[in-house]
Amino acid sequence: MANKKITLQENEIPTHWYNILADMPNKPLPPLHPGTKEPIGPEALAPLFPMELIKQEVSTEKWIAIPDEVRELYKIWRPTPLYRAYNLEKVLGTPAKIYYKYEGVSPAGSHKPNTAIPQAYYNKMQGVKRIVTETGAGQWGSALSFACNLLDMKCEVFMVKVSYDGKPYRKMMMNTWGAKVYSSPTTQTEAGRKILAEDPNSPGSLGIAISEAIEIAAQDENTKYALGSVLNHVLLHQTVVGQEAVLQMEKAGDFPDIIIAPFGGGSNFAGLTFPFLRFNFEKGKKIRCIASEPASCPKLTRGVFRYDFGDSVGMTPLLPMFTLGHNFVPQAIHAGGLRYHGAGVIVSQLLKDKLIEARAHHQLETFDAAVLFAKAEGIIPAPEAGHGIATVIQEAKRCKEEGISKTILFNLCGHGHFDMQAYDDYFAGKLTRHDLSDADIQASLAKLTTPTIPQ
Ligand SMILES: *Cc1c(COP(=O)(O)O)cnc(C)c1O
Repeated sequence: MANKKITLQENEIPTHWYNILADMPNKPLPPLHPGTKEPIGPEALAPLFPMELIKQEVSTEKWIAIPDEVRELYKIWRPTPLYRAYNLEKVLGTPAKIYYKYEGVSPAGSHKPNTAIPQAYYNKMQGVKRIVTETGAGQWGSALSFACNLLDMKCEVFMVKVSYDGKPYRKMMMNTWGAKVYSSPTTQTEAGRKILAEDPNSPGSLGIAISEAIEIAAQDENTKYALGSVLNHVLLHQTVVGQEAVLQMEKAGDFPDIIIAPFGGGSNFAGLTFPFLRFNFEKGKKIRCIASEPASCPKLTRGVFRYDFGDSVGMTPLLPMFTLGHNFVPQAIHAGGLRYHGAGVIVSQLLKDKLIEARAHHQLETFDAAVLFAKAEGIIPAPEAGHGIATVIQEAKRCKEEGISKTILFNLCGHGHFDMQAYDDYFAGKLTRHDLSDADIQASLAKLTTPTIPQ
């Protein structure tokens, strides 16, 4: 048996991020101004983001150097391990070879610090003193708190009230790293006060929390805003994951036929798959890359490709994306994360051009998969990662039925140690299967007045 765990040395941490925009056959359409609906240039983003990140957002340079200071900080937990899932293969009785890249070893427990650190770094270089953001379940808020603490910057997080009340440990984690965490809606902002005036008991939403964070950032030139997924520069930073995995697969003497990753806004999917898609573009390889999403928020498999807002309030630029409509809210019963209504621009264009695939799973299937994986391999996956594992199991079973061996690689993008309530609800039989009807989706899409895109 070959090694179970394939590791790298510190000096094998990538020196550059890989920018897939350089290799894409069709570049994404430009963002549009939310009011005039005219294409906007990068300068429109300057009140919210530092210049270096805006440059990366629009860059078509194939390789972008990682600053030495960022690489040094990556060394706290990178390179991350790649495992061969021998036991999972055995449990499934599949001839497929299954590998996974494990990003849960970061201090925040997911892939998100890969972008939180460079974002905090470029803000600091520009003299910014404070970063504000929103967080739903708390993964992004904790990653940014961790990064700001390392770089000696102030961090403030608007955490959606239901999560603030229901997931106190993520909040305490952020506090430990010195961040201020507010239960959103707050009385600090116009946006928050307006919501509270209408409903003093508002449970909050990601859309409201985004509005609060943006309002604070826009008012103060020493304060900027940060986003943990969707945007091009965020996907770019995550490519350290896939570049390491390329080296590790080489060390294992293997190469993936199929790559799978869970999909929220697209950052962990991009991080693992883009450095391998480069082989499809440059060398004519035919690696299949599959994005796994929840059946209760199926923008890739059942959404439309058109312009839509990135937030639910309608303040951001209009982006060309696969979307269920910015007002779409998944059923409350859905416990697996990945609740975002849209998809990043680059990933959307790749899907439209059929260069990647997507698949949706019901939540019971994803928890079945996560528990099967935890029992076989020991690591308890984040519920989000369970979506990817559900796709892995389908593909591995297909290999068994067809009697063929494929090499499958997936992104175990985080651990589930702060999500045990969702596991408990699953064990107690409280999670149900909800079938989202076409009528539900059409009702959400019918509200869109944003520009359509000729198909
Ligand atoms: C945030 C998060 C996701 C979803 O976001 P992407 O940008 O699509 O990666 C998935 N898994 C974990 C563990 C997360 O923290």
